[in-house]
Amino acid sequence: MRDADFFRRWMEAVAAAVEREADRLTELDSAIGDADHGSNLLRGFRAVRAALAAEVPAAPGDVLRLAGRTLISTVGGASGPLYGTLLRHAGKELGAGAEVGDTELAEALRAGVDAVARLGGAAPGDKTMLDALVPGVAALGTSYRAAADAAEEGALATVPLRARKGRASYLGERSIGHQDPGAASSALLLGALADVADGAL
Ligand code: ADP
Ligand code: MG
Repeated sequence: MRDADFFRRWMEAVAAAVEREADRLTELDSAIGDADHGSNLLRGFRAVRAALAAEVPAAPGDVLRLAGRTLISTVGGASGPLYGTLLRHAGKELGAGAEVGDTELAEALRAGVDAVARLGGAAPGDKTMLDALVPGVAALGTSYRAAADAAEEGALATVPLRARKGRASYLGERSIGHQDPGAASSALLLGALADVADGAL
């Protein structure tokens, strides 16, 4: 069973990964966007860290809801409301229980990803974060590491795709040949979950 501390460590691990990878995320976004994905997520996850230090949510669902709310209110770019929706929706699914099982967590994250797809109107193949998130959460039934690997593979597989949603879609054919920044950050999100579940963090 996973308690609120597990979820807090997950959000801390995402924040640390974003600190490490912000320059790469911004570089990816400079090729097919407006070069702010790294700084958007830095601002967002620094605020998540601060919010989780100021409040100490007792339930896993509350940790995710607070993180999601914080991302929505601090990130101006498209990724803030999208990641915020993912975490808020997953948190809502988890309810108020003090501990959640891995199956319950997988189902909550799948529901969160469905909410992202509804909000953004994108599907796998459109060269967005969903190209990492959808295969990632599908593999949660196998293991957290399998989910992280599937998300990373999905992110790499966005390179030859033409963007059909978001800012990158304005480039048309010219979006081909670059990795989608949001798919890259989604791989970090699931990589951090695997690290925390492995006990590495
Ligand atoms: P912005 O595009 O507003 O500058 P960011 O640079 O922070 O915001 O985030 C860009 C990422 O958001 C993209 O790489 C893509 O993965 C994701 N994204 C953009 N629009 C959508 C959408 N409609 N559905 C899903 N993901 C999207
Ligand atoms: Mg951008």
